[in-house]
Amino acid sequence: MKGLIKGLSYTVKNLAKENVTTSYPDVPMMMPDRFRGIQKFYPEKCIVCNQCAAICPTDCILLTGKPHPDPAKKGKIIDTYDINFEICILCDLCTEVCPTEAIVMTNNFELAEYSRDELFKNLEWLDENDNNVRKENKA
Ligand code: SF4
Ligand code: SF4
Repeated sequence: MKGLIKGLSYTVKNLAKENVTTSYPDVPMMMPDRFRGIQKFYPEKCIVCNQCAAICPTDCILLTGKPHPDPAKKGKIIDTYDINFEICILCDLCTEVCPTEAIVMTNNFELAEYSRDELFKNLEWLDENDNNVRKENKA
């Protein structure tokens, strides 16, 4: 009986307090601005230097380039860019090393899928992943 009263008094005491839980996923969760979430890719900024793929500790970036369509311009443009999120550890190294900020971290953490195949994200998907780009990385 004493325990019941103690429990009830604790409940009543906390009823009026502000909620500490959230209604995710009905209400989206805002992560801190330095959160390391799924990358956003800007194809137009990529110079196909391969540094992101070279530094990646899990070898989960696969990219290919093609010659610039304008013969007057030197260098390559990006053709395909894939990240395997089965093994990406969101370590941020690829974004730190990129000289043109073509790849940046976002605050998006929602990667749950029913199939492992869907964890391979291509250039188009990464380009469109711009809902939660960190404020400092907004183009
Ligand atoms: S965040 Fe880390 S593991 Fe993921 S692609 Fe970039 S370098 Fe590789
Ligand atoms: S480091 Fe940046 S510019 Fe170089 S290939 Fe990767 S995304 Fe492109």
